Amino acid sequence: MLRKLPINLEEKMQIAPIPTLSEEINDIRLRTADIVGNKIIPNEGVIYEGGDKSAKLRKEIRKEVKKQGLWAPHLPEEYGGMGNGFLTHAYMNEILAWSPLGNRLFGVIAPNSGNQTILVKYGTEEQKKKWLIPLINQEMESGFSMTEPDVPGSDPRSLQTTAVKDGDEWVINGHKIMTSNGRVADFLVVMCRTEDDDSGNANLKMTQIIVPTDSPGLERIRSVPIWGHTGGDHMEIKYKDVRVPLENALGARGSGHQAAQDRLGAGRVYHCMNTIGQMWRAFDIMVKYSTQREVHGGKLETKQFIQGFIADSYIDIQAARLMTIHCAEVMDKGGNSRVDISAIKIFVPEAGSRVVDRAIQMHGWRGVSSDLPLAGMFQGFRTLRLADGPDEVHRILIAKQILKRYHDGLSWDFGV
Ligand SMILES: Cc1cc2nc3c(=O)[nH]c(=O)nc-3n(C[C@H](O)[C@H](O)[C@H](O)COP(=O)(O)OP(=O)(O)OC[C@H]3O[C@@H](n4cnc5c(N)ncnc54)[C@H](O)[C@@H]3O)c2cc1C
Repeated sequence: MLRKLPINLEEKMQIAPIPTLSEEINDIRLRTADIVGNKIIPNEGVIYEGGDKSAKLRKEIRKEVKKQGLWAPHLPEEYGGMGNGFLTHAYMNEILAWSPLGNRLFGVIAPNSGNQTILVKYGTEEQKKKWLIPLINQEMESGFSMTEPDVPGSDPRSLQTTAVKDGDEWVINGHKIMTSNGRVADFLVVMCRTEDDDSGNANLKMTQIIVPTDSPGLERIRSVPIWGHTGGDHMEIKYKDVRVPLENALGARGSGHQAAQDRLGAGRVYHCMNTIGQMWRAFDIMVKYSTQREVHGGKLETKQFIQGFIADSYIDIQAARLMTIHCAEVMDKGGNSRVDISAIKIFVPEAGSRVVDRAIQMHGWRGVSSDLPLAGMFQGFRTLRLADGPDEVHRILIAKQILKRYHDGLSWDFGV
């Protein structure tokens, strides 16, 4: 739970319009900052405490977000979202993510948001009515069940869970792990091997299938404790002869790999945008603290070690945000963003870890306490280096793409 700092740190966001941006994006940023800075951050402690007061506050904030037209920045307008491109979303999200509660209160709730994106792109009208709309209206919860304990998650082509056609049903058998939100999910999007022959394109063997969690044969084994916390919602799940109608397949048969890439590509950029918002907040907390805390006969800000922390953190944050904004711009323009996505997915969480590590160090015991959001950020950034593709896999992808151009007689052009 977050508490107020025992010293006077006015945690006000100061966000001015960016001269090079359109009026529309600046307006979105400023209105987002108003809600995050004035309504969410000052109430974080109360909201985290739970109970009636918290529920009332969350309802009020969500109402205000919707009134301001800032709800669900990741969704098209026809589904009640903002219809933002990646660039607008990136500029909005670096403000929204100052609070760890920001995403939830603005209608972006992973893994539901990823499932919404995939249902918008691959869902039939019937699937949209049955699963997407209730998910958007927060009447349902969902999860994405891909990783398995016995094969490497970093190579999704190796997945063993099968779905076999039997009459007008799929029969699913397999063992999954780390299905986030799996404890409360009403349905899961399950990555299944639907083609058993090994010939042909290895990327066309999987299909994503919607599985209601009350299906007979679906067994929640346990919730995997993360960072020492038990009772989370990253579930180990077994599927034993689970039957669902054929029409629960999401997209064409064999499209599961591509659908996962679509989901994860966007998701990786969102994770980076969130990381930047949090780094910015950590920086703000750190710099303000340095101007107040006296140690060894002087304010922290007068010590050169601390000045180094501040300067290095500025460099980390600005590099991370400009790389992410560039990547969002390439994606909006329909360019090839594979290298940029992998580059930010490696760089941003690492930079985030460095910034938060310095902020924690500077705050002494407070840094690792739950009075501040820093410990949570640190765990989140470290975790991100594994989730949605471990760093090594992204490094390999970058190197492969670059080397391929050189083998093709070309060189790398950083400008596109
Ligand atoms: C908090 C959290 C939430 C998650 N939520 C979900 C979820 O909702 N749904 C879901 O399906 N999955 C989820 N995952 C799982 C995540 O996607 C996998 O952990 C990830 O894909 C890596 O798979 P793995 O853990 O099986 O590692 P492995 O594939 O076994 O890899 C282990 C390690 O080997 C190294 N490595 C891998 N390949 C190479 C290589 N070629 N060269 C060198 N080194 C390599 C990397 O360091 C890697 O971390 C979640 C994970 C975490 C931590």
